[in-house]
Amino acid sequence: MATKTKAGPGKRSARENEAERRARLRKIIARLERAYPDATCALHHKSALELLVSTILSAQSTDARVNMVTPALFAKYQTAQDFAKADPRVLEQEIHSTGFFRSKTRSIIGMAQALMERHGGQVPDTMEELVQLPGVGRKTANVVLGCWFKKNEGIVVDTHVQRITTLLGLTKEKDPVKIERDLMGLVPREKWGWFSNALIQHGRRVCIARRPKCEVCVINRLCPSSRV
Ligand code: SF4
Repeated sequence: MATKTKAGPGKRSARENEAERRARLRKIIARLERAYPDATCALHHKSALELLVSTILSAQSTDARVNMVTPALFAKYQTAQDFAKADPRVLEQEIHSTGFFRSKTRSIIGMAQALMERHGGQVPDTMEELVQLPGVGRKTANVVLGCWFKKNEGIVVDTHVQRITTLLGLTKEKDPVKIERDLMGLVPREKWGWFSNALIQHGRRVCIARRPKCEVCVINRLCPSSRV
């Protein structure tokens, strides 16, 4: 029986020129907008500080797991000062279930102390200032800037965004910072925040790692890695 050859992302990319890739991306975005019009951050939060702490906790964890931990955490620690003064051994226990609890505790307390020392206890709204905080890299800063401050300063590249943009042939890079740079050159700036959240939802529901549901994927006709 003849078997269907699986297309690799490189095949179309090799043939496709820049204009064609941009045209294909426009169609991908249009279909994703219909499928995920309101895609936004899934971490529950009521302030920039809560989103910053949640995003630190979400590393190597799931948003659902973090959302189980944060209601009690945010009831107890309500300000940057509260986190800055936290007992590390107590905080470690409180966030234990999110994994990597020792390094996350160091990051949260260090971040909160830096907020107290440099920013009057407030979360800054610039990339330059955010990435100077302990435990805060570009990805975390992009989440806070995009979801809370509504500033499109960059594109969040998490594991879903990295996997799907590679499958779609939008980047050949492996390093998240280089992937982000490629995507920033392709995706219209006003869509940066939405785009990563849409891909994250698509990665959870349809383009699941190792078992993508290409048969029900709304962008399967535009994807060089489609199995259908
Ligand atoms: S589910 Fe399949 S068709 Fe859709 S983006 Fe993923 S690999 Fe491509």
